[in-house]
Amino acid sequence: MKKITIAIDGYSSCGKSTLAKQLAKTLAYRYADTGAMYRAVTLYLFQNQIDIHHPEMVISALPQIQISFGIDKDTQEQFTLLNGENVENEIRVNPRVASAVSDVSSISEVRRFLVKQQQAMGSEKGIVMDGRDIGTVVFPQAELKLFITADPKIRAQRRLDELEEKGQHTTFDEVLANLEKRDHMDTTRADSPLLKADDAIEIDNSYLSKEEQLEKVLQLVKGLQVSGN
Ligand code: C5P
Repeated sequence: MKKITIAIDGYSSCGKSTLAKQLAKTLAYRYADTGAMYRAVTLYLFQNQIDIHHPEMVISALPQIQISFGIDKDTQEQFTLLNGENVENEIRVNPRVASAVSDVSSISEVRRFLVKQQQAMGSEKGIVMDGRDIGTVVFPQAELKLFITADPKIRAQRRLDELEEKGQHTTFDEVLANLEKRDHMDTTRADSPLLKADDAIEIDNSYLSKEEQLEKVLQLVKGLQVSGN
């Protein structure tokens, strides 16, 4: 089967990563979670007391930041490494990371720094990448572009459940406020705002199960492979 590039964009906590992981597993493709990369940069800045509101300090720290992904041998789950250290849990549950990441990701030099690495990861096809600017900036030539949406309240509940599972206790209102704030910042920033690419297929998964969503997308992939696009 011809390998393709699959770009998945969408709002915060709309299930992009879940879908991307399922697709990568089913198709035996590589998977890259670009949100994890922005989160890891944000964590580095906190760990090193770098004020995120001083872009020149953030920019001068970038050469010291190395991000990569590893695979857990037992679970086969991917995890994020920051300068060689596994930070997967920390970048997901640390509320400071969640509240500052959209400020950090609005700095153009941070975006350029990460986009270059993302493009290198996808230089060979057979990759699923999820984020906010994948179909518009990182891989504008991707064969399949998906734009995922879901009702904000449903997204907040899913995120709350996920945090509870990881032992992080918070409230529905706090989670919803963080999602809405990030959505607003991500869609209104000057550099590479979140927007649906003209040729992206929109999927609202508010009332779709994970399996139904996967099935729908696999049909799209098959269609592309049959038509030879
Ligand atoms: O996908 P996730 O919610 O983990 O992303 C965290 C944040 O990283 C987003 O709210 C957004 O500010 C930023 N991001 C981005 N571009 C991407 C992926 C994530 O700006 N491609």
